[in-house]
Amino acid sequence: MLLRVTDRGLYCEAGDFYIDPWQPVDRAVITHAHGDHARWGSRHYLASDEGLRVLRTRLGADASIQAATYGEPVHLNGVRVSLHPAGHILGSAQIRVEHAGEVWVASGDYKVDPDPTCSPFELVRCHTFITESTFGLPIYRWRPQGEVFAEVRDWWSANARAGRASIVYAYALGKAQRVLAGVADADIGPIFTHGAVERLTRDYRDSRIALPATRHASEMPRGHDFGGSLIIAPPSTAGSTWLRRFGAASPAFASGWMQIRGARRRRGVDRGFVLSDHVDWPALLSTIEATGAEHVQVTHGFREPVVRWLLERGIDATSIASHWEGEEEVESPAAGEEIVA
Ligand SMILES: [Zn+2]
Repeated sequence: MLLRVTDRGLYCEAGDFYIDPWQPVDRAVITHAHGDHARWGSRHYLASDEGLRVLRTRLGADASIQAATYGEPVHLNGVRVSLHPAGHILGSAQIRVEHAGEVWVASGDYKVDPDPTCSPFELVRCHTFITESTFGLPIYRWRPQGEVFAEVRDWWSANARAGRASIVYAYALGKAQRVLAGVADADIGPIFTHGAVERLTRDYRDSRIALPATRHASEMPRGHDFGGSLIIAPPSTAGSTWLRRFGAASPAFASGWMQIRGARRRRGVDRGFVLSDHVDWPALLSTIEATGAEHVQVTHGFREPVVRWLLERGIDATSIASHWEGEEEVESPAAGEEIVA
């Protein structure tokens, strides 16, 4: 077992390091900067060069972070470690670990759809693949993102004509910037952000990701008319007094969970845009197969359906428990719930 789950996290004994540990450790290799994967308190971090700015924002100025470019080999106690693009958010990486002729890859979170805000997913062949399965159910199938962004623009446009603001709830790291990139050519109205989104958006621009101009909403004078504008805010602001300043506004939520109609109702939003930074069911299975892995370990999300599917195809698969709950909390569809087409 080159990598195994311990009470502190996914551990490589031969190299004496952890991948995305959930307890502080001496040496942590980080797949990406989302809070459930990059936690405070470890002595040394190794992460991708591409995501260094956002990771620094998340871990603080004092964190000891070694940055590696994608594909660059780093030797930890004689174990060869390299980071490869995961296509999930800026800087996200799959961790390839090679020792004594054996190759393991820990995926972290990943998607294979193109995304202008990060490097594209790279397929890495391996003997053992540790994969996420956030959306590991056959009901999760993403529509082409071009269609989703066209919907966002039409909705924003209709709101602007009615003098309303359009509020999109999106996770501050990754999803918010992907939404911004997706509406870059819309030219419907000004774009405002919540402070948490603005801070990370600045990190993205500093990392040479082109995004449309935004303004921090809180900097606007009292009584400013936000009619026709687009506001990108973290989901935590829903129902808060921070929203009052926008006056008449239509709320929407951008997430893979919006594929389930009930999830939209529970969020109390007018619109749900099905936009995920994780692989859907078909892409999850085809990616696992393409790695050529003989052994697959399935972590966080809907693990059992994925394990079953792999076992039926003669691929050795097990489910492993982790503390990576995903930046998008799991919302299981209730019995009989309708799937949005
Ligand atoms: Zn993530």
